[in-house]
Amino acid sequence: MKTVYLDNNATSAVAPEVLDAMLPYFGELYGNPSSMHTFGGQVAEAVETARERLAGLLGADPDEILFTSCGSESDNAAIWSALQSQPERRHIITTRVEHPAVLSVCRYWEHQGYRVTMLGVDAKGRLDLEEYAAALGDDTAIVSIMFANNEVGNIYPIQRMAELAKERGILFHTDAVQAVGKVPIDLRHLPVDMLSLSGHKLHTPKGIGALYVRKGVRFRPLLRGGHQERGRRAGTENVPYIVGLGVAAQLCADFMQKERVDVARLRDRMESGLLERIPDSRVNGDIQNRLPNTSNISFKNVEGEAILLMLDRLGIAASSGSACTSGSLEPSHVLRAMGVPFNYAHGSIRLSLSRYTTAEEVDYVLANFPGVIETLRAISPFKG
Ligand code: PLP
Repeated sequence: MKTVYLDNNATSAVAPEVLDAMLPYFGELYGNPSSMHTFGGQVAEAVETARERLAGLLGADPDEILFTSCGSESDNAAIWSALQSQPERRHIITTRVEHPAVLSVCRYWEHQGYRVTMLGVDAKGRLDLEEYAAALGDDTAIVSIMFANNEVGNIYPIQRMAELAKERGILFHTDAVQAVGKVPIDLRHLPVDMLSLSGHKLHTPKGIGALYVRKGVRFRPLLRGGHQERGRRAGTENVPYIVGLGVAAQLCADFMQKERVDVARLRDRMESGLLERIPDSRVNGDIQNRLPNTSNISFKNVEGEAILLMLDRLGIAASSGSACTSGSLEPSHVLRAMGVPFNYAHGSIRLSLSRYTTAEEVDYVLANFPGVIETLRAISPFKG
């Protein structure tokens, strides 16, 4: 059966170049980078090369990069550090559309007595800069706002928001897990203090992430123990995965300009083709300002899960905007925050492309997707 993978915001295929680079570190190159001997030296060098490559993609200094186990760890570590290093500040600012890796951490700290401001969004999922500026206060310990949204792809005005935080002497963290490798980020000009990323969104295997911490920002480690990562993250380094992340970053740096354009072109053709062919469908998010690979479309009066199952039978992998909680299908927190009407929110599908998506795959989707909606609407209990 033909397969079309359109769930790259969930995870992405491992790039062959990444896998090739990793393999020796599962075999003969097994040293511990902290060891003084040659076994250790070889792998320590590989770790530093990876750090340089990732720093190069971001316009950072290699010393500002610390490797973690995933994007979630990076988010947790950033917020932890900000709160631990400024115990007198008891306020956190975030948004209602963050990934749970930030949202649930902020809720946790709220239960511990912190005041948390959760900024809302408009119908296109956009933040209000005035509301944001008004929320910044003398006791704000950290602002944590995502660079780009994983569900609808919106890119947030991080440059301006970070500048406003900086003017007030407030730490600014951005969860850039969905943005790194898809859109240019240059930390020489973007005044964020900390930035999280995750390898598996940019074609490494799952289980490697990184946190950028700007020079001069006080840092308190989440994981204590050995002195790895210059005392900022204990634990013997996951060498093969770090090497893989370095190669993945290099590939993004080399090909991003072209890939962004090509991927966006395919995404736009797919999206407009679906909207044309399927009545009562609408795009969610800010189409003027979003990731090049992401499309979130709602189909009136159909269940997202049913769409996914039928697409899966056709070999098309996508994801829905709903989460099955306690037996009831709740639209996602992002679509709810945007106020997407109930009968549309339930039938939301996220299609996320990658550098490996082909024109032929888009043709296949356009030929088969409309029939899925037609079939489901014919049997739908919801009408009108
Ligand atoms: N932040 C965002 C925006 C994400 O999309 C994800 C993963 O989907 C994460 C954080 C968590 O990353 P990881 O799966 O590496 O923990």
